[in-house]
Order: sequence, then structure tokens, then C-alpha cells
Amino acid sequence: MSTLFISDLHLEDSRAETLEWLMALLDGPARDAEALYILGDLFEFWIGDDALPACARQLAGATRKLADGGLPLFFMHGNRDFLLGQEYAAMAGFRLLPESVVTDLYGTPTLLLHGDSLCTDDTEYQAFRLQARNPAWQAAVLARSVVERLAMARSARDASTQHTGSVSMEIMDVNDEAVRAAFREHGVSRMIHGHTHRPAMHDYDLGEPGGAQRIVLADWYGAGSYLDVSAAGARSRDI
Ligand code: MN
Repeated sequence: MSTLFISDLHLEDSRAETLEWLMALLDGPARDAEALYILGDLFEFWIGDDALPACARQLAGATRKLADGGLPLFFMHGNRDFLLGQEYAAMAGFRLLPESVVTDLYGTPTLLLHGDSLCTDDTEYQAFRLQARNPAWQAAVLARSVVERLAMARSARDASTQHTGSVSMEIMDVNDEAVRAAFREHGVSRMIHGHTHRPAMHDYDLGEPGGAQRIVLADWYGAGSYLDVSAAGARSRDI
């Protein structure tokens, strides 16, 4: 048995192939899995459960079927879909996770997170993150009209594109000290996250026997990809 992890699909109605890859995962490997974890940025943007894009409706039908069939489907928010709420989660059969979770994966204590909290060198982004995760701010945004929220999402996306273009790759990657602190704070020897779009398996020496591993999930811009974790270890697979 194995547990599957995906993140950074950035689903939107204009890129239908991404949903097709995800449907192939749900219809294939996910059927034999013990659980499926979605570690954020499943959607390119999310303006509220009352304004679903077509791809979200289509996806919910498929995931709901799997969930009803007994597959636990966990969802953690990313920096694009942080407004995804309980209403859509119920519709899709998702169990909402907090922003970080420690779970025992076949004997290895593992920290799961979206990954943006580790990018501490990007102070401008961290300021946005603080605001975006604030329940009062979220409630104020959700109280606006759909038209207003769409405009906000569009301008946030433009600002993000501009920011990404003006800040160095190093600043937008995880901060090494933040990573080591997270290993220590949570007492884990493995972490799995997405967000940076730099898929890799990094080894760390934390001064303890066995070492530690940080696994970065791939984005879905060019193809579908998932991480398969079993008692035998973790490996990245294409769909
Ligand atoms: Mn992200």
C-alpha cells in the first residue's frame, strides 16, 4: 500500500489538460492508494465556494466518488486557493488540513506543508501571506461581490507575476535555516511540500543518525506528477 501526494496543479478552466491528468490519477493509481494528500495550489485561484469554476465542479464529482468509496482525501491550502472552504470540501469529499501536519508514514514521522512558510527570505511575500491567512481579512474578502473578488484575484495574479519576475530565484526558494528549524520544531526526519516548483529530494544532516529528507513536489505545468510513499520509501512518478 502507498500514500500519494500532489500539489501545485494550478487547475483552471483555460488549461483543460491539467484536469485530464488529474482524472487519470484518480481513475488509476489513486484507486489502489491508502490516502491522497493535496498539498496546496490545486487551483490557480479561488475566490470563494460560491463561485466555482467548471473544473472545480467536474473535479468534485470524481473526488467525491473516491471519498465515498473509502479513500481519504486530504486538502491543505496553498497561496492560490487559501479561500477554499468547508462547503467545497464537503462537496469534493476533502478533509481540510491545517497549514502544517505531522503524520507517521510507514514508521517515518513526516511534516506536510504547502512550503510557502519556509520561504522566509521573501519578506514581501510573507507580509502578503500573513494577511491572506487572517480570518478577518478572508471574511471581508468573501463578503464582496463575485465581480469584485474576480478583479482582486486578477490583480493579485498580476502582482505575483511582477514580483516573481523581479525577485531572485534564491529569495523565492526555501530558507535553509527555516527548513532546519522546521525539522527541529516538529521532531521529524522527513518533510514533503510543494510551492517552489523545484521538484527534488534533498538530504540533510541534522546531527542525528539516519539523516533527514526534504521532498519537493513537482508542479503540473508540463505534465502530471505525484509522489508515491510506501514502506519501501518515496518516489516521484509521472502520470
Ligand atoms: Mn504555492
